[in-house]
Amino acid sequence: MNLPKKVNILGLPYKVMYAKNCLDVDILGQEQLLGQCDSVTCTIRILDDGGRTPESMFDVLLHEVIHAIFDRLGMVGENKEHTELIVNQLGVAMADFLLRNKFVELK
Ligand SMILES: [Zn+2]
Repeated sequence: MNLPKKVNILGLPYKVMYAKNCLDVDILGQEQLLGQCDSVTCTIRILDDGGRTPESMFDVLLHEVIHAIFDRLGMVGENKEHTELIVNQLGVAMADFLLRNKFVELK
């Protein structure tokens, strides 16, 4: 599969955009990011600078999808660093699970 341009997360359509530089990933253009999920505009942005593998971008996509799921389910705790750690671990684990078991094959 090619990386998607849209995904549905718990019934909400999210647009997935790919940016060529890490400042463009940030909707405010202030931080250099690999990915960002904006739950207000239902937009996920992923860095695609030509030097990243589809697998690493898929990993970031799942990370941002998990952020969206956490937002939708109200699972955002007060400790943002701890939430980020959990989201990161789940993203890596889910990407590995889906790719390793060939539920997803990237082109
Ligand atoms: Zn994150």
